[in-house]
Amino acid sequence: MPHSTVCLSFDFDALSVWFGYPHTTPSMLSRGEYGARVGVPRVLDLLREYDLPATFFIPGHTIESFPAEVEAILAAGHEVAHHSYAHVDPSQQSPAEERADLERGLAALARLGVTPAGFRSPSADMSAVTLTLLEEYGFTYDSSLMADDFRPYRPRIGDQVSQQSPLARGRDAALWEIPLCFEFDDWVHFQFNFNPYRNGTSAPSKVLEIWTADLAWMDERVDGGVLTVAMHPQVIGRAHRIAMLATFIQRALALPGLRFACLSDIARELAAG
Ligand SMILES: [Zn+2]
Repeated sequence: MPHSTVCLSFDFDALSVWFGYPHTTPSMLSRGEYGARVGVPRVLDLLREYDLPATFFIPGHTIESFPAEVEAILAAGHEVAHHSYAHVDPSQQSPAEERADLERGLAALARLGVTPAGFRSPSADMSAVTLTLLEEYGFTYDSSLMADDFRPYRPRIGDQVSQQSPLARGRDAALWEIPLCFEFDDWVHFQFNFNPYRNGTSAPSKVLEIWTADLAWMDERVDGGVLTVAMHPQVIGRAHRIAMLATFIQRALALPGLRFACLSDIARELAAG
């Protein structure tokens, strides 16, 4: 594996993410539509400008609501991966509901000819059965968990732990975890909301400082490190933020031996040993 890798990922949630709030309004949905109307074209333009690959995690709900934008992502050669059907937090679903949602998302992807290698959970959380389901449906990687930063790992299935009982480790999953963290999620930094209140109005300079500091640390100290950035077209698409992403890309490209890759490339290389 090269010395350092950056994986740019985009969760194209569009409208679906806003139905996860207690009270969904036309204004909230318009913020989701911005991701399709403005965010995706702007992201695709930037990726084309620097000739970079990326991974788009797309809910089935978005595929069926904004098919032209999804076709444009595929036509540009980017990876498309699974992000649920309806963007419901799996920890809030029964096992049967979670399976049905996963299958509906797979069906939407299949109609585009996509068999996804990877999955990212909506809300970056899981139920007790999520990893088992992903194994059953043949996913080779997940990108939702946070037990490491620059090194993909095997997530465990069947851990037993409580406040009163220390960790009893389960078995390693068959798939790889390409980990996330909230510091590398644009939504956390930037997405304002009234109710529930999120400040979300970071200056891009603050986020660029955090992202480039981790990038430099990884590049200096972690051989073969993988840094995954999780973004949303409806968030990163705003002009001051897409300009920040361009600056981050330029800083990364200035590091000798660094490459950009899709998450499925990382999973494939790990599986090959
Ligand atoms: Zn999402």
